[in-house]
Amino acid sequence: MEPTTELFKVSGTSREVRQPRSAPKNIAVKCPECKEIIFEREYKKNLKVCPKCHYHFRLRARERIELLTDPGSFVELARDLVSSDPLRFASESQVYAEKVVQERQKAGMNDAVIIGHATIEGEPLALGVMDFQFIGGSMGSVVGEKLTRAIELAIEQHIPLLIVSASGGARMQEGLYSLMQMAKTSAALAKLSELGLPYFSLLTNPTTGGVTASFSMLGDVILAEPGGLICFAGPRVIEQFMHEKLPEGAASAEFLVEHGMVDLITPRATLRQTLAQLLHFHRKATSQCIVRERILTIHGEQVLNNRSFIAA
Ligand SMILES: [Zn+2]
Repeated sequence: MEPTTELFKVSGTSREVRQPRSAPKNIAVKCPECKEIIFEREYKKNLKVCPKCHYHFRLRARERIELLTDPGSFVELARDLVSSDPLRFASESQVYAEKVVQERQKAGMNDAVIIGHATIEGEPLALGVMDFQFIGGSMGSVVGEKLTRAIELAIEQHIPLLIVSASGGARMQEGLYSLMQMAKTSAALAKLSELGLPYFSLLTNPTTGGVTASFSMLGDVILAEPGGLICFAGPRVIEQFMHEKLPEGAASAEFLVEHGMVDLITPRATLRQTLAQLLHFHRKATSQCIVRERILTIHGEQVLNNRSFIAA
């Protein structure tokens, strides 16, 4: 069959497939790091962080949005986009189109990212949050398109951008179309950067592959949650290829901070506060620029047409 030229489509219904109600509720979870048993109530109260060793469990995209944004401020965009399976991909064990439908049911979302706009402590921003639960947070054409729309929204509205990454990399079942998303998102971010609008990138466990090789590492400020695996290729793959042992924790967020690839490790409990602070700084810088622009007009000097705060 001929491959289609459409990479994504709008799903027939505007609603996402809901997760079955009968899903059993865990009353306790075991920390994979220190083996502590954490009861549901404490687990939730502690924002899914182990109280003993501070291991950060994965958050779903909607949980992350709820944690970071002002209550009721998030407006979701492009919720209906679904993959159109551009390669008509089928392996011996699976037909991709069928897998996507199953995953949509299992994860309760249409693809591996949620985008929209919201406020954090009253500061507006465009937002893209990835969800590892949907095919390992893999980046196919829908993820690339939605993130690009989030970037374009930031450009249009002249607001900062936040992308929260959680990904195993490019989506193999969409082959080259997946890899193209690296260039597409990076090109959109370059436009954002030209306008002097800030991009905050938050890396969560894990952020790997094509996502690390594109938008995740292009942030003006790159934050990471403690203990996260952040790399292009995993340490085991590198060791097999190089025939050399890597230093302890070579792909950890902490290692990347020490080596200048990440700016700051931010524990989940202070994440919202840190982001709010960054957004406040940005607004102050921008308003100072506008003030300067007005003064120049009042004094009859050449009027600045460009509102870019870089000029300040
Ligand atoms: Zn623990």
